[in-house]
Amino acid sequence: MSNLKLKLVHLYPLFLNIYGDIGNVKDLQKRCEWRGIELEVQQFNVGDTLEEGNDIYFMGGGQDRQQVEVSEELQKYKNFLTDEYNNDAVFLGICGGYQLMGEYYQPHDAKRLEGIGILNAYTVAGSNRFIGNVTAKTDLPIGKDTLVGFENHSGLTYLRGETTPMAHVVVGHGNNGVDKTEGARSRNAFGTYLHGSFLPKNPHFADYMIKLALKKKYNDDIELEPLDDTIEMKAHESVLYKTY
Ligand code: GLN
Repeated sequence: MSNLKLKLVHLYPLFLNIYGDIGNVKDLQKRCEWRGIELEVQQFNVGDTLEEGNDIYFMGGGQDRQQVEVSEELQKYKNFLTDEYNNDAVFLGICGGYQLMGEYYQPHDAKRLEGIGILNAYTVAGSNRFIGNVTAKTDLPIGKDTLVGFENHSGLTYLRGETTPMAHVVVGHGNNGVDKTEGARSRNAFGTYLHGSFLPKNPHFADYMIKLALKKKYNDDIELEPLDDTIEMKAHESVLYKTY
């Protein structure tokens, strides 16, 4: 697959990159490289400029204090990123990054943090911390119906409007530990509480993101060359249905 090119913007990696969430970016880079697709990655930090023509946006997790910094910065690009969302750019937010893709995050002891609102979801800090493995069932068209990862959050996220859950938890807590939802989707924007990193353990979802990004850029359903995911699926199965 020569000549196919994609551009990914990694939003605020200096602030939002706990539990190895940068592994998601590296996973997409390798899965593209192994197929001869050029994936350019821009690390976007405070003071950098965002230009048009990006296909994928990634935002990792972070503690509340890093989210305070990012929330203020993100507001400068809220309209830009909303336009990108409406143009079907692919977004993936993990935990704290997910929360800031929503309407707002209300931490325990800080002012309400405004998100960019591309997900109709809001988050309030809970009194417990959800920590542990997660197995969730999904009906996304990704060839497998399980998504796995590791959660570590106190935020409780509630979905509304057109935003739908990415999956439903079988093991673990997910969005809020009550309604059994995990993650969120609206158009090509996805959020999840699954660290781990998420994509290396869920190659079927990583490829879905690449296909959506190629569709957005080339307006074509480009089939991806299959990869040998033996190791990735061993990692997937090492978490699947495990509670610890
Ligand atoms: N600070 C947020 C919470 O605790 C997000 C944490 C994270 O990104 N793992 O819910």
